[in-house]
Amino acid sequence: MRIGVRVEGVVQGVGFRPYVHALAGRLGLAGQVGNDTSGVFVELEGGRTAIEEFLTALPRDAPPLAVIERVQTAPLHPTGQAGFTIVSSERAGRRDTLISADSATCDDCLRELADPADRRFGYPFINCTNCGPRFTIVRDVPYDRPFTTMSGFPMCEACTAEYHDPANRRYHAQPVCCPDCGPRLQLVGGPGGDPLPAAAALLRSGGVLAVKGLGGYHLAVHAADHDAAATLRARKHREDKPFAVMVADLDAARALCDLDDTAAALLTGRRRPVVLAPRRPGAPVAPAVAPGNGQLGVMLPYTPLHHLLLRETGAAIVLTSGNVSDEPIAYRDDDATQRLSGIADAFLTHDRPIHTRTDDSVTRAFRGAELPVRRSRGYAPEPVRLARPVPRPVLGCGAELKNTFCLARGNHAFVSHHIGDLENYETLRSFTEGIAHFQRLFDVEPQVVGHDLHPEYLSTKHARELDGVELIGVQHHHAHIASCLADNGVEGPVLGVAFDGLGYGSDGTIWGGEFLLADLAGFERLAHLAPMPMPGGTAAIRQPWRMAAAYLDASFGGDPPADLPVLARNTADWDTVVTMGRRGVNAPLTSSAGRLFDAVAAILGVRDTINYEGQAAIELEQWADPSIREGYPSTISGAAPLQLSGGDLVRSVVDDLLAGVDPPVIVARFHAGVSDAIVAVCRRLRDTTGMGTVALSGGVFQNLLLLGRTVDGLEGAGFGVLVHQRVPCNDGGISLGQVAVAAAQRS
Ligand code: ZN
Ligand code: ZN
Ligand code: FE
Repeated sequence: MRIGVRVEGVVQGVGFRPYVHALAGRLGLAGQVGNDTSGVFVELEGGRTAIEEFLTALPRDAPPLAVIERVQTAPLHPTGQAGFTIVSSERAGRRDTLISADSATCDDCLRELADPADRRFGYPFINCTNCGPRFTIVRDVPYDRPFTTMSGFPMCEACTAEYHDPANRRYHAQPVCCPDCGPRLQLVGGPGGDPLPAAAALLRSGGVLAVKGLGGYHLAVHAADHDAAATLRARKHREDKPFAVMVADLDAARALCDLDDTAAALLTGRRRPVVLAPRRPGAPVAPAVAPGNGQLGVMLPYTPLHHLLLRETGAAIVLTSGNVSDEPIAYRDDDATQRLSGIADAFLTHDRPIHTRTDDSVTRAFRGAELPVRRSRGYAPEPVRLARPVPRPVLGCGAELKNTFCLARGNHAFVSHHIGDLENYETLRSFTEGIAHFQRLFDVEPQVVGHDLHPEYLSTKHARELDGVELIGVQHHHAHIASCLADNGVEGPVLGVAFDGLGYGSDGTIWGGEFLLADLAGFERLAHLAPMPMPGGTAAIRQPWRMAAAYLDASFGGDPPADLPVLARNTADWDTVVTMGRRGVNAPLTSSAGRLFDAVAAILGVRDTINYEGQAAIELEQWADPSIREGYPSTISGAAPLQLSGGDLVRSVVDDLLAGVDPPVIVARFHAGVSDAIVAVCRRLRDTTGMGTVALSGGVFQNLLLLGRTVDGLEGAGFGVLVHQRVPCNDGGISLGQVAVAAAQRS
């Protein structure tokens, strides 16, 4: 008999054809296998038992990077074919194929890298079917060498032989290469000779090294060298935002951080994100690496170049994005040379182009599962699988900060790599070019476009400039909750708690401490934090003391205790700011939870101004005494929607502060007060709605102390609780939520 088999999923560029070839050969089956635009097609001819065995083994023994989503079979007429062949790729028709994310160097390649007898011994670009660059080098589909940035490197005879040998690990591995035919390493601006030892020597002597990675350039310094880290900060104009550290192996990571099994698995997995974990006391890392931060971001080498550099340097290195301040990371060689020349003392670079700028992903472990912070290199462009197919192709344009976009068709939501803050031309170009690239790669022509309600977001403006599509405005916090629902594969309705920085509300005010009755299609705002003026608008984001002034004025009837340190530190502008708030002059009202945390951080003296988004709240969390469990009380008032008083919490904070209570105790009581309040509001709403499930989303829930206490409290009260696991709870997850909402409204 003869049958046709169609395999869909991540099946190209992962060694699937050779795997099928070997499997068919072992079972004595004739036929052929090839890639086409929707995945892999197989034709098999032989006995029924052998064919059945083939179909059983196919998903079971698939190569490590393959993700099989669907296998379909159809009968064919036998042709009498003998032997089994791999046929070349076809380019016609609709593209349904998936592209693998970039994957960390596999153990087989690492063995060869360290083997003096191997012809790729010490070669920084070794890869195979099971590992190496993918998404970052793909220019077009199907995933074949001419459509990648390896097209300029014709294979040598030895590599060609491996590429065509079905028994070889590099059979049809598109980026395959060797020292004779592949990319070359170069140290620009350093001493001549072998680049690696010279680069390592530069790091050991306190220099700043630019390193070309998979998705862009990094800047590296010796992680234990305080002066080097401080120099890097000064040159990058990055005051306090933590740097990530790359270490050689898991043991070295354990010397720096406390890692549970989940964190260790994330760290050593093929995606190789930066993992945030509690820093160990006395960890040998310079204070300038992560100032004021009890967490450290660590990662393991994910390219052969990183492995070699770490081995040669013999120490942990800071590996942070190659940019100045908040610009996007440099990934084109000429651009990197230009922008980073004032920062780096030398460039460890090579001649394999990067097609798509892709930042490192950042993640953490929360109660045995992954809680993503930034989903990018190693994850994108693998789709988030949706529980229900979208009726028409959809684009979600995302938010303004931490932007991602999302294109969806069928059951696949292709959440993009991290684009960044849409505030400059470079980032905006990454956004528009990224959408075009994804549309081409995945053959999605969006008919429905979901966007934020904020009229000034560049992502909103982009959506409004599109022709011939149906626009759907999605409220920011509804998008957060829908994102959490889609992330968990459920449709609701649920009680959604979106605690966030700022998001445009349906009533034109700024929201951010929201309790919604929500499903994918719609929501009702049932409760929120009591609104507070933001004196100076965006200035209040950068200067948390302004929120302290607003909260204190409101909580103490215009007469806060005069001996508060925050008041003493800011006397010069205090009265002006308070007056702005009272009169509502350049002082928009917000129900933001992020701003409440800012106010408390300023009152307790954590900081009056910030240098990166969320800094005050991040540092506040770390002050907490984890042994304290009782929280401050707060009142719920009003009706439809209910209002939760943040001012009550602020008053208790002030009372304790003036009574001489230790700040770590106050911080813990404040956190417990917020989570108690969330539980109390949810109980009230359960009484009126009958909803027993709560979805938690929004950037404030990156605070693990708050998240942990809130989950405990809700579960203790009998609620089912949904938290994120595939996309971030911050604005990086908004695009998925917009897609889910837009699809639900149009189905
Ligand atoms: Zn490999
Ligand atoms: Zn070669
Ligand atoms: Fe948000």
